[in-house]
Amino acid sequence: MINIKRILLFVFFRGLINNNCFRECGTSLLIFNFSLFIFNLFFMYPKKMQKVIDWLSSLPGMGRKSAERAVIHLLDLPGKSLRDFAGDILEMEKSIHRCSLCGNYAEASLCGICQDKERDGRLLCLVEQPRDTALFEKSSKFKGRYHILGGKLSPLDGIGPDELNLKSLKDRVEKESITEIIIATSADVEGEATADYILDMFRDKGDIQLSRIGFGIPYGATLDFVSTQSIEKALQNRVPLRRQ
Ligand SMILES: [Zn+2]
Repeated sequence: MINIKRILLFVFFRGLINNNCFRECGTSLLIFNFSLFIFNLFFMYPKKMQKVIDWLSSLPGMGRKSAERAVIHLLDLPGKSLRDFAGDILEMEKSIHRCSLCGNYAEASLCGICQDKERDGRLLCLVEQPRDTALFEKSSKFKGRYHILGGKLSPLDGIGPDELNLKSLKDRVEKESITEIIIATSADVEGEATADYILDMFRDKGDIQLSRIGFGIPYGATLDFVSTQSIEKALQNRVPLRRQ
């Protein structure tokens, strides 16, 4: 670490000498400060610690500062806790895989929801990712089952129908007694295109109701802060109010 700082200092002073007694002192100082900033950004911590920070900061929602704080916290933990934490990560990697039926995370061949006999097998909710099922489960309002599509159609990102779990969806619809498919893809261009594609897939299945989750104004929001697209959706999805 010290050696690199010395090299940078040497480069800085050589710059001063070569530039006729501080003529371009400002530029050299700027280059030096910038080099020091880059140096501090990437080589501030010991190499092995830096490696873990790099890993953590590559995670979604985790910036470099948060990763640094997390690593410092981990190092402050008692040795056993840190080893248990590392062991749990390794154990998770070994034992968690995708449910053979719906594509959710599971420890056994089937996930907890697919194993649950109390769930209503007639209702199937299509979501993009496993984390979406957790959101529905938190609401405790949906008692059917799920199918994880693994994303949404996005030709620009090279995601076509073959990249999604649509074949397994078709198989399930053939084998199971499904009466309603609820499409819960995102309310954006790709999510809508995916919903349209699925609607087309089951166009000949007249006995199955295909529905789309409602979109509109978030609960608790005031209209001033709602986008025009949300207002448009809210109008499309309006529900009649019956007078008593
Ligand atoms: Zn499952």
